[in-house]
Amino acid sequence: MKLISIVIPCWNEEEVIPYFYEEMNKTLASFGEEFPDVEFELLFVDDGSKDRTLKLIKDYAEKDSRIRYVSFSRNFGKEAALYAGFENAKGDYVGCMDVDLQDPPALLPEMYRALAEEGYDSVATRRVTRKGEPPIRSFFARRFYRLMDKICATEVVDGARDYRLMTRQMTDAVLSMGDYSRFTKGIYGWVGFSTKWLEFENIERVAGETKWSFWKLLIYAIEGIIAFSTVPLEIIAWIGGILTAGSFIYTVVSLVCFLTGVWGAVPLIIAVILLSGSFNTLVLGIAAMYLSKTYLETKGRPLYVAKEIV
Ligand code: UDP
Ligand code: MG
Repeated sequence: MKLISIVIPCWNEEEVIPYFYEEMNKTLASFGEEFPDVEFELLFVDDGSKDRTLKLIKDYAEKDSRIRYVSFSRNFGKEAALYAGFENAKGDYVGCMDVDLQDPPALLPEMYRALAEEGYDSVATRRVTRKGEPPIRSFFARRFYRLMDKICATEVVDGARDYRLMTRQMTDAVLSMGDYSRFTKGIYGWVGFSTKWLEFENIERVAGETKWSFWKLLIYAIEGIIAFSTVPLEIIAWIGGILTAGSFIYTVVSLVCFLTGVWGAVPLIIAVILLSGSFNTLVLGIAAMYLSKTYLETKGRPLYVAKEIV
């Protein structure tokens, strides 16, 4: 028997949990017909809900032995919920799925097939449309993914969902990344392994409301960039270097012109102010370079992730 664990983060989701359970039940029944040697574990992570979410999960867990749960003492955010789920999942394959049915459970057989039969280490999903989402949110989301992909060492895919299924080996690699400010979408890319991408059209929430305000998303985006890129720090050094070189030339020119009487003293004074300002930026940039290295060291990430050691 193989076990698949599905981690389901929930924060104030009393409205959608019954829909989710019903839909999952159907999907898992047909899944069981196709793959009789596979069992499921549904691992709910209650992220400090203030409504009846935990109560509902407990009720289902009593009736259904496939259901387990982790309940947080307060709201720690979806990233922490995913980590807790992965940490407690027992499956040979581990996946995660939103509870609002925006991640279609119907894809599960195809995802499992890619891992079990096609030899992939993980199957990820991305939505190719953003229908139903406020246009301003889509616009900034697209820009964000483009920027992330440019300045980060790891691949970040536009429209990538958190919905995915991966092998135990890859799950352990994700868990070995102890990043406190977690950006799981970047972590998947960082740990490597072969990933198959499935695409689907955006599906709207069955009930309830999105838990992400525009500001929460913006902060998440900034966290993502900071977690996976030291480019913002390194830019300071580059800007400082270029400005210092430019103002040094300008200072020399204005000094010569001042001494030969072509220019007055004003350009020279401006030049000295510019030079000292840009020199400050350069020094700051050098310090930032060291800071960026220290920052990466403190994350304590593994030096490598091996797929096979023979
Ligand atoms: N979620 C969570 N903790 C949070 C925010 C969200 O566990 O602090 C869960 C939420 O219950 C849902 C999933 O993360 O299962 C995705 O949230 P949502 O559907 O609100 O995000 P969206 O689909 O709008 O991006
Ligand atoms: Mg959602």
